[in-house]
Order: sequence, then structure tokens, then C-alpha cells
Amino acid sequence: MSETLEFKAEVRQVLDIVINSLYTDKEVFVRELISNASDALEKLRHAQITEKEVFDDHLTLEINLNTDDKAHTLTFQDFGIGMNRDELVDNLGTIAHSGSKAFLEALKENATSKENLIGQFGVGFYSSFMAANKVEVYSRSFQKDGKGFLWTSEGAGNYTVEEVEGLRRGTKVVVHLKEECKEFATQERVKQIIKQYSSFVQFPINVNGERVNTVEAIWLRNKSDIKEEEYTEFYKFQANAFDEPLLRMHFNADAPIVINALIFIPKENPERFGLGKVEPAVALHCKKVMIDAQPNGLLPEWMRFLKGVVDSADLPLNISRETMQDSVLVQKLNSLLTKRLIKLLENTAKKDPEKYETFWQQFGIFIKEGIHLDYGNRDKLGKLLRFESSYTEPGKLTSLPEYVSRMPESQENICYLFGQNRAAIESGPFLEAFQARNMEVLYLFEEADEIILRDLGKFEEKKILSGDSDEVKLDKIEDSSDVESLDEKDTESLCTWIQEKLDKKVSSVDASDRLIGSPACIMNADKFMTANMRRMMQAMNQDGKDALQELPPVKFEINPGHPLIRNLNDLRTGNENLAILILEQIFDNSLATSNLLEDPREMVERSYQILEKVSQD
Ligand code: ADP
Ligand code: MG
Repeated sequence: MSETLEFKAEVRQVLDIVINSLYTDKEVFVRELISNASDALEKLRHAQITEKEVFDDHLTLEINLNTDDKAHTLTFQDFGIGMNRDELVDNLGTIAHSGSKAFLEALKENATSKENLIGQFGVGFYSSFMAANKVEVYSRSFQKDGKGFLWTSEGAGNYTVEEVEGLRRGTKVVVHLKEECKEFATQERVKQIIKQYSSFVQFPINVNGERVNTVEAIWLRNKSDIKEEEYTEFYKFQANAFDEPLLRMHFNADAPIVINALIFIPKENPERFGLGKVEPAVALHCKKVMIDAQPNGLLPEWMRFLKGVVDSADLPLNISRETMQDSVLVQKLNSLLTKRLIKLLENTAKKDPEKYETFWQQFGIFIKEGIHLDYGNRDKLGKLLRFESSYTEPGKLTSLPEYVSRMPESQENICYLFGQNRAAIESGPFLEAFQARNMEVLYLFEEADEIILRDLGKFEEKKILSGDSDEVKLDKIEDSSDVESLDEKDTESLCTWIQEKLDKKVSSVDASDRLIGSPACIMNADKFMTANMRRMMQAMNQDGKDALQELPPVKFEINPGHPLIRNLNDLRTGNENLAILILEQIFDNSLATSNLLEDPREMVERSYQILEKVSQD
């Protein structure tokens, strides 16, 4: 008896794209089905270790392809884990895995070509419909008392499932080829595809009974015997990629643990579409046998963008996925791999800065995440950060070690300023004090950057400080300009007057030692939440109990040498009302340049009042 079921909407979407708009690289479906067979065998091997009983336990773990150039069919058969009825429906009728979902999202973004995306996200099984007008899947689960089923579809809206007698364990996929795709029913073509895409499969592959691959673990081979192309091919196979990797590390060690690792950094950040975290993709093996394709705990979270294989002969074969993270050995592997990766990145930055910059553009965000969450490696990761600075050209980057090497002996702190962009920082009130003293300032354009620099705290014993912090020590510079400045007495009484007028808004009012072209500034703004952050907090707090958190009193500094401040001092005796308006305006402007001004409406209104008064005179 056969039942007819409908594909879920997302599957229909994927199928529609696969069938109607992907014309090149149709052959990847061979790779996808072989990779599924290999996964199924891998899972079975694991089940043989962990389960008591396995159906058809004697069958060999290999993948058999058969071509029939008369019937135009290509058949894939494995004695792997198999699927029961519900698994057939779940795995082939819905998109349970994130790969294809991400594919759909990425297509909407339309960033890369569709062909490229298939590889990156693994449309997997559905790719068979690029070449087929009908696909049949016979499957029998490894579980002792199961039954066999046949799943059939022509790729349109639905599929059928029926029970079938007499199946052996595993899965057989019969691809009925479209007329224009009948080349895939010839032995030579199929062999050629396997050579190209699947030479690293860890199980024997036979085409019409003839063995076509040599099962070998490239990561166990001697580095000097491996050709560049072999590495690239392995990467493409392992990471399901179409392009070359950006960077690679291959190393073997015998002490303190036996480890062989072959790890790649891809060219592009797979999280760039904002689809959330990718799964770990460095597979864990023990003497060539895969233990876990996506092991948790083998690498720190922030290293999840890596692809490849780690093989350790010291691992127990039957280590369970649940306890893996607690295993001392896995922890040792973790710290060793982290060290190696950081070293690789440091060396790349030294020897090939351009390549490192490509890495930084794509993956810098992971380094920042590492600094925030992985304290153990915080300082080492700090060296990998890159920023623009007052010493770099726009768009060019520098590092903390470079910054420190340029620091004059008298400079005690590493200083940064935060702003929307370069122009905003350079026109703000704080930079000039540093420029006057030839001190370099790092430019931060993202709030996250400020957070991680605060996490770091120090670099090479130099405290990292925001440029508006009163902790920053600035040496006196000779006042060479002949600007008139308020004398000490006037300054003092002006400060007292300002304190009185601004009242609760300020904690102190002082003459500044750092302002040159600006009349005033707010100090230590980095200690407060920016207006943006406070608005976000308020929005998240929906019961509205806590209105916008008030800004605590701020430390306000004025520039007694600035004409506006000098005039203000005169004005407060002549026309105090106007003087107060102008003072409030200067204060709000200072808040705005420090990203602390919440509501500009009041300030705009006030500026009209001032303009009105000025235009009357
Ligand atoms: P992926 O391999 O990325 O999970 P696919 O679309 O290739 O996605 O396959 C979907 C699912 O169908 C697999 O996750 C697996 O559960 C199941 N599947 C496919 N082929 C086989 C097979 N030969 N044996 C057992 N299960 C399979
Ligand atoms: Mg697959």
C-alpha cells in the first residue's frame, strides 16, 4: 500500500530552484549522494560500537554505484544506517537541517551565484533532481525489527512512500536521468566525477563492481609528499566548497599527545548572511575512523569557522558525544589547536599582511568574540586585532603591537576614540589634544570594539583608555598660541556659575587641559551607556516601569581660551538669560559629540530661541 505525501513549502522552493534554474555543475549531485552514503556508513560504524544489535551486521561498509546506459539510471547503494518510514519522511520531505534553509536565505540576498551556494550550504539530496526526472530511495534501517520502504518522487509537489519486502540494511538511491543528462549513466563519466569530487571518501567506492578510489587519510601523510592541488581537493571535499581555502595548517605531533591535524580557513565567513551560528566543522577522528563530524568542545566556540580534520590515536574509539567535552584529552587537543591557530594567524600577518587583512575583514568578528569569551587566550588574541588610527590613512589598519612600538617613551596609555566614522572622530573635541602632542589614537567605529578593548584592559602592560577619560595623562605643552585666555580668577568664577546653572546635570565643572579648538567637552563618556544603548534597554523593558534611565551627572570641562567661553563670561553679567541659553546649548552639543544626547528636540528648540534673539540685534 502506498501513501502520497506533500513536500513542505521550503522543500518545494528548493526543488523549484534546483530543477529550473541551476544549469551548470549538474554533476555535483553525484558527490552529494556519495557524501550521504558515506555519512550513513560513518553513522553505522558508530552504531556498531555503541548499539547492542545491528541488523545485517555482516555487510561490508562500502559504496556501490551502478550505471545502466540503456535504462538511463544511476544507482547508489550503501549498507549504512538506513532510514525507517518516519525518517524517510522527515529527512527527505522536510528541510530539517539548516543547510538548505540557509541556502534559501542566501539566495534571497543573491550575493553569490546559485551554483556556488549549493556547495556552501549543501542542497544535498535534492540536487539529484537537477539531473533526474524521478528518484527512488529504497531504505532499511539498521534497527533490528524494522521494515523496508520505498520513497519515490518526480520532484514536483509530492512523493509516495510504500513498504517493500526483502531489503538489506542501508539505502539504495535510483536516479532516473533526464534525457539531456544521460551522460551520468555511463561508467567513464561517473568515474571521472568521483575522481574530481570524492577521492577522499573514507570508504571504498565501486563503479559497476570496480574499485575507483584508494581510501587514504591525507592528514596522516607526510607534508612534503602532498601536492598543493591535493590539499585543495581535500578541502573542497571536506568543506563542501567550490573555491580554494584562504589558509591551511597541517601538523603532526607525538607529544604530549598524538595528533594529526589538517585544518582550513575558508575564503568567506559563512555567518555573513546573519543566519546565526554555524556548527563546528572540524571532524574528530581516531586512527582514520570518524568519531564525530561536528564535535562540541574540540575547539573553542569562536573557532567555529574552521573546516578540516583532527585525528588523535590517543582517543578511545567509543568516546560518547555527550562526555567528549569533559574529556581531558579533548581539552588538551583544544588548547593545542587554539595555540596553533593563533600562531598561524600571527605568522600570516607578518609574512603576508594582505592575506591577513582579507582574513580580518571576513573573520575579525570571531577574534573579537574570542577576546570577549575566551579569557585564557585574551592577550594573544589582542595581537590579532586591527584598527584604523590617527596615524593610518583612511581605510588602512594597524595593530596594538605596532601602536605600542610607535609610542614615545613618555606616553603611558594606549588611547582610542569611538565615533560613527573617521570624520566624526576627527571633528570631535578630543582628538586635537592628542594631535597637539603627536600621540596616536586608535579609531573605533563599533560599540563592540569598545567593549573588547575594555575586556582587554591592558596590552603589554599599557593601560588601554578612552581618549576622553580623565585617567589619560597628557603632558603640558607650551602655550605657543597668542590666544587670549580667561585668567584664573575669571575661569574659576565662571565654572562656579556654570555648576550652579547646570546643577544636577554635572558633577564637576573645570577648565580643561586638553581642548584646543572646541569650547567644551564631557569627560569619561565611555563610563556611561551611550544614548543608543539606553534607548535599546528601554525598548527591551516593555512594561515601561523603568523609563529611559537618566544620565548620571557628568564631568564637564571648558576651554578658557575659546572665544565662545570668553564671551560667555562677559554675557553672564550683561544678559544672563541669553548666557544660560548659550551655556545649555554648549552643554548639549558636548553631550551629542560624546553620543550621550538622548533627545535632540529640546536642543533644536533652544537653538531657535537663540537664533531669534541674535537676529533681533
Ligand atoms: P545533509 O546530508 O546535509 O544532512 P541531505 O539533503 O544530503 O542533507 O540529506 C538529508 C538527510 O537525509 C540526511 O541528513 C540523512 O539523514 C538522510 N539521508 C540521505 N541519504 C541517506 C542515506 N544514503 N542513508 C541514510 N540517510 C540518508
Ligand atoms: Mg548530504
